[in-house]
Amino acid sequence: MNSHVKTELAPIPFVDIAAQRARLGTRIDDAVARVLNHCRFINGPEVTEFEQQLARFAGAKHAVACSSGTDALAMILMAWGIKAGDAVFCPAFTFCATAEVVPWVGATPVFVDILEDTFNMDPASLEAAIEVAKREGLTPKVVVPVDLFGQPADMDAIEAIANAYGLKVLCDTAQGFGATWNGRRTGSFGAATATSFFPAKPLGCYGDGGAVLTDDDALVPVLKSVREHGQGVDKYENVRLGMTGRLDTIQAAVLLEKLAIFEDEIAARQRVAERYSAALADICAVPAVDPRATSVWAQYTIRLPHGVRDGLAAALQKEGVPTAVYYRLPMHHQPAYAQFPIAGNGLPVCEKLAGEVISLPMHPYLDEAAQDRVIAAVRRALGA
Ligand SMILES: *Cc1c(COP(=O)(O)O)cnc(C)c1O
Repeated sequence: MNSHVKTELAPIPFVDIAAQRARLGTRIDDAVARVLNHCRFINGPEVTEFEQQLARFAGAKHAVACSSGTDALAMILMAWGIKAGDAVFCPAFTFCATAEVVPWVGATPVFVDILEDTFNMDPASLEAAIEVAKREGLTPKVVVPVDLFGQPADMDAIEAIANAYGLKVLCDTAQGFGATWNGRRTGSFGAATATSFFPAKPLGCYGDGGAVLTDDDALVPVLKSVREHGQGVDKYENVRLGMTGRLDTIQAAVLLEKLAIFEDEIAARQRVAERYSAALADICAVPAVDPRATSVWAQYTIRLPHGVRDGLAAALQKEGVPTAVYYRLPMHHQPAYAQFPIAGNGLPVCEKLAGEVISLPMHPYLDEAAQDRVIAAVRRALGA
């Protein structure tokens, strides 16, 4: 291998926020400057404007902006009054926040297996988990489908099971905002949806941010109360427990500019994914998208036989191609979550995929030359 030639090339960014900023020119600077001039840093006019545009984009009736994706999840559970003795069903192959908020309100996360092809919640395992929860004396209350790596979970199957068992559906679309299922955007499914604007998510701000989307008119004032320390009609009356859950006006101003180019960025991500898949399908398991779904490609994640990926990561690193592993340890094996119930004797698909997955650089500004470098490096490393 001629490492000389390759190390001369600058490393490819895994996610390229600088390229997006260059494209937006001075629009973000101007938007932030407007906030600096009006000084309404909390609940300024940009927040309301962003909430309206976000809801319209998702096809939801309401959006309530907030401080992070994690807080969006927590605010929904708090607004619904989920409490000790309640079971909340979460996939075990996800970012920890999906389940982390459940013990915050005293409830119990029950971990569910995933489907091998889409990495998303397995409906059959969800039914098994509901039986486990009942046997343990818990009350099944909420299911949290996660749109992992940008692809919506199987909403047809999950909503059918939720209806049959009387569960509320809380969609975690932190990675899938902007994706579609049966032609409808995420944010328009379930009783409420949580999303995140962490900078590396498909729609990100310049710090922490999130939102709740819902069609439920009655839920909105409760969410807004939770967001402001449980305030009542008067600001200094506290009618419930809440938090400091607001989105900063500056972040809303940033998000308004980014939302304007988001559809175009989703299309660019789709082009990258298609090109990767065409060039790599013969040497590894490339991502499978359900025919009812589109993905926003928060991650482009391939699968390799157990024991192969760390060697691939090291070889790519030498060529300036970064990779990441989401997730090396499923939730039910994390020390902080190991005591919670799971849907059977282990979660075999989560355990298998945790040893096989590796994500390649993915963002809307990855040009064909950079894609070709990634593709060539992967093929070389796998001896293809
Ligand atoms: C990022 C993420 C969250 C949490 O979002 P933050 O804004 O970082 O709090 C929740 N769920 C999933 C699946 C995520 O990927």
